[in-house]
Amino acid sequence: MVVIASGTDLLPRMRKKQIAPSVLLDISSFQDDLRYIRQSDGMVRLGALTTLTDVLESPIFKDRLSILHEAAWLFGAPQVRNVATVGGNVCSAASSEDLIPVFMALGAKVKLISAKGERTVPLTDFIVGKRATAMKSSEILAEIHLESPKEHSWTGFEKLGRRNMLILSLVSEALCLSLENDLLTVRSARIALNRVAGRVPALAEKTGDFLTGRKLSEETIAQAQKVLASELALTSDFRGSGSYRTEVALVYLKKLLHRCLGKIRGSS
Ligand SMILES: Cc1cc2nc3c(=O)[nH]c(=O)nc-3n(C[C@H](O)[C@H](O)[C@H](O)COP(=O)(O)OP(=O)(O)OC[C@H]3O[C@@H](n4cnc5c(N)ncnc54)[C@H](O)[C@@H]3O)c2cc1C
Repeated sequence: MVVIASGTDLLPRMRKKQIAPSVLLDISSFQDDLRYIRQSDGMVRLGALTTLTDVLESPIFKDRLSILHEAAWLFGAPQVRNVATVGGNVCSAASSEDLIPVFMALGAKVKLISAKGERTVPLTDFIVGKRATAMKSSEILAEIHLESPKEHSWTGFEKLGRRNMLILSLVSEALCLSLENDLLTVRSARIALNRVAGRVPALAEKTGDFLTGRKLSEETIAQAQKVLASELALTSDFRGSGSYRTEVALVYLKKLLHRCLGKIRGSS
């Protein structure tokens, strides 16, 4: 049995015969229970059936959380955004899914429900490989939730494809940067990419650890780029080579650090 939300990922794969489920479980009618964006007590919760258009139109995704607005704006085209769901994006567990690095950079967790109850799993543990998740066959993803970034924090997203519309990501990279009160020392840096090793979206943990506790300077950024290069193991395919993807990821790291730094200083 395979769950179908809006089918924008699943149906093309079925047409290409990459997957041939004998039974489809359509959850699209659970709009009242699974389609919402809520903010309270510093937490933001998105129901699995929330669409990309819902994200784009929500007033919640601005300032420190504008990363979700950015990612939604660069996502597909209006026709796709109107139906594609955040739950379907995360459950696809593919390197072309832009929201996975975004939610990973935000430290998001997913709520999985089944007839037996519910459990919450960090997104980094939920994605276990290329198109593989930690979800059991009896479960569905009900919610993605995250803490709003705190004071002196900012988030940013960069994406490169081979065209300007309907972009399938060659590289997508997300950053959540937090600084200490001196607005120079890194309190934490969560960097997530659509591919870190092979074709699996993940956090670039070594690079985040390297930056933590260091004062941000051009020299630190150049060193962080070297650390990132050492932890990326990117493969080539017909869209682009691994070395080109690595080069872009390093440029994006610098760009995102500069962007977030500027925003934090400008808003403090
Ligand atoms: C023209 C086009 C452009 C696109 N552009 C982009 C883009 O720019 N960026 C991007 O990231 N993606 C893009 N996509 C891919 C796709 O739209 C997204 O992955 C979308 O978010 C999938 O959501 P869906 O509701 O259609 O999921 P579905 O296709 O219904 O499901 C996808 C997978 O998730 C599982 N699933 C879905 N919901 C749940 C749930 N709640 N619980 C458990 N399992 C579930 C399904 O079993 C399936 O394996 C594009 C697709 C098309 C056709």
